[in-house]
Amino acid sequence: MTTEAKTQSASVELRDIHVSFGTLEVLRGVDLTVPRGETVCVIGPSGSGKSTLLRCVNRLQEPDSGDLLFDGESVIKADPDRLRQRVGMVFQHFNLFGHRSVLDNITLPLRSVKRLDKAAAEEVALARLADVGLADKAPYRPAALSGGQQQRVAIARALAMEPEVMLFDEATSALDPELVKGVLDLMAGLAERGLTLIVVTHEMGFARSVADKVAFMDRGKIVEYGTPDAVFDKPQSPRLQQFLSQVL
Ligand code: ADP
Ligand code: MG
Repeated sequence: MTTEAKTQSASVELRDIHVSFGTLEVLRGVDLTVPRGETVCVIGPSGSGKSTLLRCVNRLQEPDSGDLLFDGESVIKADPDRLRQRVGMVFQHFNLFGHRSVLDNITLPLRSVKRLDKAAAEEVALARLADVGLADKAPYRPAALSGGQQQRVAIARALAMEPEVMLFDEATSALDPELVKGVLDLMAGLAERGLTLIVVTHEMGFARSVADKVAFMDRGKIVEYGTPDAVFDKPQSPRLQQFLSQVL
């Protein structure tokens, strides 16, 4: 078995996605296309539907209507477990198993989902930990690591599954400022390697330098979409102009 990280990316397309919670319409017809190997950053105010949109991509949230396509093929009715094997997700709060070692955190899904034996799972896990500079942390519990290190473990765990798409939901928002850069650099490296990334972020510097496209969400819709230069330097809508004046 090879321990090289493989990159096999898929394109993602969301078509006219609607999600409501009771009477609250959270996504009101969202279309988004992310070509294979590209990075889209999703920005926008709190409550605008960014997390819900991301969760639709691996169907943690099932849309009320609309379609989801991977490599041009609808997966909206496909087996959700099979879909989730193609998608890695990294959350604000890491979501590591606190009572297991760093190594176990990565080997457990490899064993249960990918059905690797113990030795093979450990070989992959150690290789992915080495990729994020944390091979020496394998025996520790997550609590013994800094927030930035825990987030890098979470990224290593997702990458160990060889996803075709990675979703990041405010992956650096819970980190102390001095730990943010290490995680952003790692994410930039994945973009460079050609993994398809959808990144919800408040890090406008990252969006500007790494994103191929930036989507600005407000009240359940993508109200502006374009290159980082267009979105940041020539915002068209008053809502985006106001948002940028608050965050830049
Ligand atoms: P964002 O990530 O942009 O802050 P979210 O997608 O988390 O926005 O939430 C959008 C809106 O949907 C918010 O008003 C939020 O309170 C609501 N919401 C999100 N998830 C649920 C849920 N499971 N049940 C009810 N309301 C929800
Ligand atoms: Mg959110």
